[in-house]
Amino acid sequence: MQESNLGHFRRPRLLARMGDALRQHQRLIAGVQWTVVALYLFFLLVPLFMPLPQEDARILGSLQRFAQFLFWGVGWPLIMVSMLLVGRAWCGLFCPDGTMTEAISKHGRNGSIPRWMRWPGWPCMMLVATTVYGQMVGVYDFHPATLLLLGLPTLGALLTGFLYGRGRRIWCMYLCPANGVFALLSKLAPLHFRVDEAQWKAYRGTPFRLVCPPLIDVRRMQRMSDCHACGRCSGYRDAVELAARAPQSEILATHNVGTAEAVTLLFGILGVGMLAMTWHGSRWFALFQSVLASLLRQDWLAVLQQYAAPWWLLVNCPQANTVFTLFDGLCLLLLLLAGGCLLALALWLPVQLAVAIAAHAGLAWQRLSLALVPVAGVSLVLGLSLFTVKHLRAEGLALTWLPQVQAGLLLVGGLSSLWLAWRMLAVTTVARRLPALAVFVLPVAAIGAIWLERLS
Ligand code: SF4
Repeated sequence: MQESNLGHFRRPRLLARMGDALRQHQRLIAGVQWTVVALYLFFLLVPLFMPLPQEDARILGSLQRFAQFLFWGVGWPLIMVSMLLVGRAWCGLFCPDGTMTEAISKHGRNGSIPRWMRWPGWPCMMLVATTVYGQMVGVYDFHPATLLLLGLPTLGALLTGFLYGRGRRIWCMYLCPANGVFALLSKLAPLHFRVDEAQWKAYRGTPFRLVCPPLIDVRRMQRMSDCHACGRCSGYRDAVELAARAPQSEILATHNVGTAEAVTLLFGILGVGMLAMTWHGSRWFALFQSVLASLLRQDWLAVLQQYAAPWWLLVNCPQANTVFTLFDGLCLLLLLLAGGCLLALALWLPVQLAVAIAAHAGLAWQRLSLALVPVAGVSLVLGLSLFTVKHLRAEGLALTWLPQVQAGLLLVGGLSSLWLAWRMLAVTTVARRLPALAVFVLPVAAIGAIWLERLS
C-alpha cells in the first residue's frame, strides 16, 4: 500500500489529518469495533439469565435495568445526536451489526445482491415494522423484547453478510431498520468526505487499495447520506479528505429527492415514529381506545379484552403487572399505522400546497419535504431521550433545566426547517415565496405543538 502524498489539494489541515488517521489506524478501529461487539452481545444476552428487576430497582442495582438504560437511554439518543454532528460515523466505526456483517461477508458465499433487496422502499418498511413491533412488545421495559428487537436485525445482518457481498456491508446498505433515519439525519452533519474529481483524474501515482464497505462510487460521491464515515478512502488519489461544510449544504444541493426518501421522513419518522414516541400515557390514546371500544360489537370487545398474546407478540409480563389484552394491541396497532398515515398525510398536504403555490418545475414536494429534516432530527432526539429522562428522574435527578432545553431544541429545529424551506423557495418569485412559506409553517408548527403537548 502506498501512502498518499499531500498534494496541492491536500493541505495538512486538522480535519484532513483526522480523516487520514482513521485510514491509517484500521487495526485500532477494528479493536474498538470488536470490543463494541463483545459489549453488545454481553449486555444483550447475559441479562436474560438475571431475575426480573423490581419496579423500583435502580439502574445500578439490576443488570437488566442497566442494560435497558444503556441501549435505550444512552445508546440510541447518542447515536441520533452523533448523526447530526458527525454523520454516520457510528455505522462505520462502532456499529456491532456493521462489524459482524462485514466480517462474515469476507468468508461467506459472495453472492451478488438480489434484485428484491434493491427496492427503495425497504428503509421505510423496515423502520416502520421495527418501530411498531418494538412498541407492541414493550421494548423499553422488558429485556427479552430488547433481545428480539436488536437480535433479529443482528441475525439478518449475519445472514445477508454470509450470503452476499465480498467484505461489503450489504445489510447496512439495504435492509438495516435505521438506514433511512441515518441517511436523512446525516445530511445535516457539518463534516463530510470531500472529493475533488479533477484531482482524482489528474492523479498519476499508484493509489492504495480502496474498499468502501457500503459500495459507494467514491469518485462521484456528493453526499454523506450513504457514507459510513469510516475514513478508508481518506487521501485516496490525493482527492478525498475529511472537511467541514455548512450543515444545510447537502439538503440545498440535493435536487432529485426520491419519493421513498421523502416517505421515510413523513410517514416513517414524523408519522409512525412520532406517535410511537408520544402515545404512552397520552390522553389522546385513552380517547382513541374509548372511541374504538364504542364502535366494536360488545361480544367481540369482550373477547378482545379478555385474552392476551405471547410476550413476543404483545406485552405480556404478569410478574411486572403489565399485560396488554388483544384490544390494547389492536388499539396500538391502529394508532401507529392508521394514525401514522393520517399524521403523515396532514404534514404532507401543506408541503404539497406550498409547492403548488411556488409553481416552479424545479421544486417538487419530495425536495421541499427535506426541509423538515432538522425538526424531525430534534423530534427523534427528544423522543428517544424521554426514556433517559424518566430513568434519571427515578434516580433522583431533578433536571429542572430540561424543559427550557427541550423548548430551545424545538425552536432551533423549527427555525432551521423554516430557513431551509425559505432557501428552497428562492426559485420562485417573492410574491409566491412568502405565501408558500406561510403554508410551510403549518407542518413545523404541528410537530412543535405535538411535542409541547407531550412534554408538558
Ligand atoms: S466513502 Fe466509503 S470508504 Fe469513504 S468514508 Fe465513506 S464509507 Fe468509508
